Amino acid sequence: MNKWIVSLALVFWVNGWLAAETLKVRHDHNPWGKCEGELVLSQEGVEYRQDEDKHHRKWRWVDIQSIDRKSSSRFSILTYEDQRWLFGADRHFNFTLLPDQEPLSEETFQFISAHLGKPVTDRIAKRAQTDYQVAAKHLHTFGGCEGTLYFGPEWISYETDHAQDARTWKRDRDVDSVWSLNRYQLEIHVFEENKRSFDKTRRFRFQLKEPLNEDYYDELRRQLLHGR
Ligand SMILES: [Zn+2]
Ligand SMILES: [Zn+2]
Repeated sequence: MNKWIVSLALVFWVNGWLAAETLKVRHDHNPWGKCEGELVLSQEGVEYRQDEDKHHRKWRWVDIQSIDRKSSSRFSILTYEDQRWLFGADRHFNFTLLPDQEPLSEETFQFISAHLGKPVTDRIAKRAQTDYQVAAKHLHTFGGCEGTLYFGPEWISYETDHAQDARTWKRDRDVDSVWSLNRYQLEIHVFEENKRSFDKTRRFRFQLKEPLNEDYYDELRRQLLHGR
């Protein structure tokens, strides 16, 4: 498609079509229980409408720290709300789309991300344009999971059968830096919610199954240093 048509469609879409999208959701309580309601996304923010009122919430975009897309039907919103019983830890709202609700579309997710303007967690690995790929093992504290890293001009993606570790990072939004000690090892440091919240970047350590292309690595590292 022509580049201009795409840009125009994008502007129209951000300003118009999704001015108010409503998702039918279940709010999964921690550690048990649930309530059902509607999540209304608009230019102003996100509102969770719920009959019993207890969990009715209205967040401006600035009141949301991050979103975690766990699958095409599950996601959580991290707020700044304190939870006293968890020593003031910020509160997550976990949502699951109801069965008669269409899966969360890519457009809707990008709409949310664009309005947040902050790093997000996206556990759906997608290969956009790929310049380089390498088979890898993601190292856990014990053991790891196997998959493939895909690198493109805008995105870095890790595809694996271990669904909770699959990721797509937008380079200028989520990735801080990359680091390699030797050609069979690569670390990707990302802005993702972790035990230290966002104070510290989260490190994804990979053991590479084939040698890292040093030219590609040098260029990627240089570009990330300059915020690209
Ligand atoms: Zn609830
Ligand atoms: Zn893993």
